[in-house]
Order: sequence, then C-alpha cells, then structure tokens
Amino acid sequence: MKAVKIFCPGTIANVSCGFDVLGLCLDSVGDEMIIRKSEIPGIHITKIVGADLPLATQKNVAGVAALAMLKEITYEGGFEIEIYKKIKAGSGIGSSAASAAGAVFGINELLGNPFTNAKLVEFAMQGEALASGAPHADNVAPALMGGATLVRSYTPLDVIGLPTPSELYATVVHPQIEVKTADSRAILKHNVTLKKAIQQWGNVGGFVSGLFLNDYELISRSLEDVIVEPIRSVLIPYFKAVKTASKDAGALGSGISGSGPSIFALSKGAETANEVADAIRKIYEHTEIPFDIHTSKVNPTGCKILPL
Ligand code: ADP
Repeated sequence: MKAVKIFCPGTIANVSCGFDVLGLCLDSVGDEMIIRKSEIPGIHITKIVGADLPLATQKNVAGVAALAMLKEITYEGGFEIEIYKKIKAGSGIGSSAASAAGAVFGINELLGNPFTNAKLVEFAMQGEALASGAPHADNVAPALMGGATLVRSYTPLDVIGLPTPSELYATVVHPQIEVKTADSRAILKHNVTLKKAIQQWGNVGGFVSGLFLNDYELISRSLEDVIVEPIRSVLIPYFKAVKTASKDAGALGSGISGSGPSIFALSKGAETANEVADAIRKIYEHTEIPFDIHTSKVNPTGCKILPL
C-alpha cells in the first residue's frame, strides 16, 4: 500500500461526570487525511484545506505525533500528509486530536500495522502536548479506539476501551464563541469537597456500568457533573436552556464537550437525537451567535480507512 485516505473522527472528552478520564468517539463529524509513502525521509505536511494551520511538521499536531512514531522504528523513507479539516480548532470536539490520531493510524496502516492501538495512543498524545501543553489522552484514545474510553491512569498509561450501546447517539452544538482552553482550565477550583467527589465517582461508575449493561436509564441518571460543569458552564451562553430543552426533547442527558464551547447531548436512537438537535437549534436561532449542530451515532471503531 502506497497511500491511504483516513476518516479522523471528532470526539467528546469528559462526557459530563468523567472530567479528564472519559471520552466518546463520533461517527459523522470528523476530518479527512491522505497519507502517502515518500522517498524523502521524515514527515512532510504538504496541504491543509479548511483551516489556517501550520504546515511546519513541528508546529502541527499531526507532524509531532507522526515524528514520535517514526522515532521508534527504523524506516528509510518518509510520509506526506494532506489534511482536510472539517472540525474547527478550539470547538471542543477534539480538532487537534483528530489530526494526531489520524496521522499515526494512517502511517501504521501503511507500515503494515506494527503498533498496537495502545502504542498509537501514546504517539498521538505527543501531538496533543503541542496543542494544549500536556500530553492528554481523553480525545486521542476514543479517536483511535472508538466507542467510549476511560483513562484509568497516566502513570503508567492505562486506557480502557468501553463498549457502547448500539443505539447511542450524540447531538453536538458548537456555538461559535471563543473559549480559550487555558481560560476554561484557569477558572476551575483545585479542591473538591468529599461530598462532591463521592457523587462524581458514583456517577462515573454508573455511566461505565450503563455502557456495559446497555442500560440507557442508568446512563441517563449518571450523566451528571457536580464538579466542573457548574463552574465552566458560565462561559457558554444558553447552556442551561440547551440542557433543559435537550432533556425535554428526550435526551438521556447533556454536558460540556471537552473544555467547550460545544455542548453535547446523548440520546437513545437517531430520531430522538434529531429532535434534540431541533430543540437546540430553536434556542440559538433566536440569538446573534452563529452555530453548527450535528447528530452522530457513537462510532464503535474510531479512525477508518476511506476509499481513495
Ligand atoms: P479542540 O479542543 O477542538 O481539540 P484545541 O484547542 O485542543 O481544539 O486544539 C487546537 C489547537 O491546536 C490550536 O491552537 C491549533 O492551532 C493547534 N493545532 C496544531 N495542529 C493542528 C491540527 N492539525 N489540527 C487542529 N489544531 C491544530
């Protein structure tokens, strides 16, 4: 194989109760990438369409992730990468992670899959370190592994793939306002009360159990974040209205996607997810805020090869 075309999915990090540990993979929201083997050693980003991002290998998360991978093998040639961006950077649905994950997934395919998914997550995390200053896995893990993922530990890295019920759908709205990840981190408190911690880990356990048991009601009850959402949501206009409207339209629950400003809602079935999208659309249509809205099945496989 000389070239591959990749679908690089968007992802929802945190998923309400799972701040910095849970992630969920989207199916119809994502970038595309074409990767070709080249005789010139190294990684060369030759084209970026749809966003104003650096072509310089060391400044692009795709380049940094790919270089981390190349360091671990002896390969004489190199790779050319074209990125077709559809996920807006800073939207909160893993724009940088899609590029980091897509690059290492595609190169692994071209090399005959020498690396495991767990190893690819480690390489992609190096790309994420460029975007956010820290090598976090909560977007790259679901992008590479699909479904839902739990980062149980960073030292050592222990990422667990979780099953997702087949009718689990996400509705994601991106109100196009700027919320800097640094700002949304800065407002967080450093301490939590024991009472809130107990509620939160109860919900994480409940959510994970709901995924294993295909128990949508349990998933719904567990989609509650008592620690981060009450603080961060003030940065997102109409957050409460969206939450109420989603629930009224039949959603299992909702929350902030990543560090925002995107808001996600989970539903059982495409029909409900679309009704939730209609309800959210009605809220932002009456404002000056431009927005995008998508519904997507939860993607059980992660990055995929597309026909070239
Ligand atoms: P998101 O939360 O949607 O992933 P981030 O804020 O984490 O967005 O990442 C976007 C940052 O990463 C921007 O500063 C962007 O310039 C940088 N970046 C570098 N390479 C890429 C890339 N290939 N795709 C997206 N963002 C990139």
